[in-house]
Amino acid sequence: MSDSPAPTVKTTCPYCGVGCGVLATLEEGGAVTIKGDPDHPANYGRLCSKGSALGETTDLDGRLLYPEIVGARATWDDALDLVASKFAEAIAEHGPDSVAFYVSGQLLTEDYYVANKLMKGFIGSANIDTNSRLCMASSVAGHRRAFGSDTVPGNYQDLELADLIVFTGSNLAWCHPVLYQRIAAAKAARPEMRIVLIDPRRTMTADIADLHLAIAPDGDVSLFLGLLAHLANNGFVDAAYVGAFTSGIDQAVEIARAPSLAELMAQTGLAVAELEAFFALWAASEKVVTVYSQGVNQSSSGTDKVNAIINCHLATGRIGRPGMGPFSVTGQPNAMGGREVGGLANMLAAHMEIENPEHRDRVQRFWNSPVIANRPGLKAVDMFEAVGQGRIKALWIMATNPVDSMPDAGAVEAALKACPFVVVSDIMAETDTIRHAHVKLPSLGWGEKDGTVTNSERRISRQRAFLPPPGEARADWWQMSEIGRRMGHAEAFEYEGPASILREYAAQTGFENNGARDLDIGAFADIDDAAYDDLAPFQWPKPVNDISLSPGIRFFANGGFFTGDGLARFVPVAPPARVTVDERRRFTLNTGRIRDHWHTMTRTAKSARLSAHIAEPFAEIHPDDASALGIGPADLVRVSSEGCGIVVRALLTARQQPGSIFVPMHWTDQWASSARVDRLVAPAVDPVSGQPALKTSRVGLTRFEASQYGFIVSRDRPALDSEAYWAMARTDGGWRAEFALSEPFEDVPAFICAMLAIDAATPLLSFADPTSGVVRYAAFDGRQLLGAIYLANAPVSVSRSWAADQLQQDFASLPARWRIVAGRPANDMPDKGAIVCACMNVGVNDIIDAVRAGCRSVGAVGQATSAGTNCGSCKSEIKVILDDHQILAAE
Ligand code: SF4
Repeated sequence: MSDSPAPTVKTTCPYCGVGCGVLATLEEGGAVTIKGDPDHPANYGRLCSKGSALGETTDLDGRLLYPEIVGARATWDDALDLVASKFAEAIAEHGPDSVAFYVSGQLLTEDYYVANKLMKGFIGSANIDTNSRLCMASSVAGHRRAFGSDTVPGNYQDLELADLIVFTGSNLAWCHPVLYQRIAAAKAARPEMRIVLIDPRRTMTADIADLHLAIAPDGDVSLFLGLLAHLANNGFVDAAYVGAFTSGIDQAVEIARAPSLAELMAQTGLAVAELEAFFALWAASEKVVTVYSQGVNQSSSGTDKVNAIINCHLATGRIGRPGMGPFSVTGQPNAMGGREVGGLANMLAAHMEIENPEHRDRVQRFWNSPVIANRPGLKAVDMFEAVGQGRIKALWIMATNPVDSMPDAGAVEAALKACPFVVVSDIMAETDTIRHAHVKLPSLGWGEKDGTVTNSERRISRQRAFLPPPGEARADWWQMSEIGRRMGHAEAFEYEGPASILREYAAQTGFENNGARDLDIGAFADIDDAAYDDLAPFQWPKPVNDISLSPGIRFFANGGFFTGDGLARFVPVAPPARVTVDERRRFTLNTGRIRDHWHTMTRTAKSARLSAHIAEPFAEIHPDDASALGIGPADLVRVSSEGCGIVVRALLTARQQPGSIFVPMHWTDQWASSARVDRLVAPAVDPVSGQPALKTSRVGLTRFEASQYGFIVSRDRPALDSEAYWAMARTDGGWRAEFALSEPFEDVPAFICAMLAIDAATPLLSFADPTSGVVRYAAFDGRQLLGAIYLANAPVSVSRSWAADQLQQDFASLPARWRIVAGRPANDMPDKGAIVCACMNVGVNDIIDAVRAGCRSVGAVGQATSAGTNCGSCKSEIKVILDDHQILAAE
């Protein structure tokens, strides 16, 4: 055994767009220790629950380790030859637009760069689009309309310096937790800082908000039009800034003044007092940052929302100076990197424009490529529509799961099934998408791959490998380079490694730039491999001869926009048309993220503690709506749209507006019987950005009738696949699952044995109450619990966290075993209840006990229980529990 400590590698979290620095250590025995990097300027040592649990997601369970052709293991050579020949055949027969790449914000910048170069410069089509289209394409379009470039003007530091932060369409507390914690700490240090939350739901971000505006869905454009009119009418326009650096304010203000107050109230769903309070606060706060995210972007008026926000910042000159500016926060770890290298179908590399002949010429000369795409390619929704129509003959999907995440996901699945040739590069062997692949290519996962990512503040950081490549998995850039070489472009794709790709990309950003384009990292065009390995996080731009790590680079305080005349554009936007409500689908479906899961759960579902916070898909429903529909707490509900539906658990909460429901985006067919919410989402898109409207589909809602409900804990994954409803999650020591049956089982013991995969001769402890329909069984192997099943005619009453914990306990006595059948601990034994703090495994009952014992603040609860003392992502929920118990808490 070695005495020297295992080396620690500085890398970057692969989840959200905050881009936190991570210290990863591969311990002897294979465990991975994760800590926040105290030197990384995004997080200064903090990590959220997902980042903290990264070490629990790096095992090889479920990994795709070898190439496959039609389900059979293949060599890399055979798989790559087949991919290259199928793409070449399609191009030869049907033209370059008959093939497409659908890529991902999970790719590293180097991967993205090669994908874009291959498609746009060597295949000659722009049919490469990314799942970032679903995330922030409206911000890109809004930036380009106003600034002439896709530029995020500010820094994270601005969020700490602001006097007012406006969150609109952003549940930062759950979706960008470390940024939220930075703001919460700044507000604690400077209580005069004001925070406004604009969101139809009262999300956990409301915890630190001074004002919550429960805006009507898609009411944002109207709200910011009202604000612009207020600023113009009351002398808050910065005439000097507007006169020197912008154009078009008159028309924008004229349109903003058009709605009457009554119309504004109807469009926003807000009262006069709320509107006036918001307008007055914004007008009076010189240092104001407006943070926007998916609630703004994922809308059929998303680009207009972005420009309505930017208009207000331009009108007041509140942009590009410390503590102020519009701030788009990206969802994915490398959404920004993808934007930078041309991962979107309507952009070229290095922020150059596909519609601009000079830019096309420049890119083609730089690459010395035989062709260059000369018109925008298919954006995500159009791309899968084209696949469904048979216009795409060969499709390569990389690091994403569109069968779950695209709108109209059922049609996307049907399109893949019908597509003549589908290639999927992924790290997982089983996803709802990869099952439709003709060729599966094993990619490197986080911890195994090397490259760079860009976070929401334009900061480029290294992801570094600290694990060996498993099986025959290879980097995505290598896979694409091999296809480029096989298609006859060996020289153009002769990369030795990610450093050589970054050098080429950095040189391209500086190529004939001379300050004409915002994105320039030419300083790194000659970086050697060792310097690339050591590269510290930096913000762009970094033109040639500027390799200082100067903090706080901002854009546009003194104009300098990237429009032809250097002036920013006010975009005259108008409120979207109102939706006519169809009584059959009278609910607005809002989709989004929860705190502890990421996208389609391919990684986070591996972690028992991340699955402990919320273990089942759900719909948040206002209690009045639930009551009107006869839906009770914890009932199952069917949410339906055009001919399809999903079944999820009802979560009744006044945080949800009447008439709207919220369903998380994460659950797939791998984890639940029928919870792929994007099957219900109509493929409506923003007309400018092409971003899907993922938050305003119309759905119906009914109670789901089941004859029997059940809960199971089991050492092995239970065999529930054919039941009417099921949702399962990992626990320490096994699995837990909720289920419901359409018909009660005649032979319950046989059912139990099938579920638990045990022999019929295995002795079972059991309890049955024919009056209430309660039936409970437990099976043991010596002193170990094999599994327990709880059945009832209504949602079962069991202490679920406690029952799941029992899989790891030692059962020496018969009375202890009978506790399993009872479904709850003895009175003198702890029952933590549903997990609130995933890091410290603290449940809601622990927190309530602490409150009853006299804890009066989140900090005091933390001292008593440890809840919230590691990553802090659960502090908002602890505060809610305190408030629900009618106790004033002051940190
Ligand atoms: Fe990762 Fe959490 Fe940081 Fe986002 S906030 S980058 S998920 S640790």
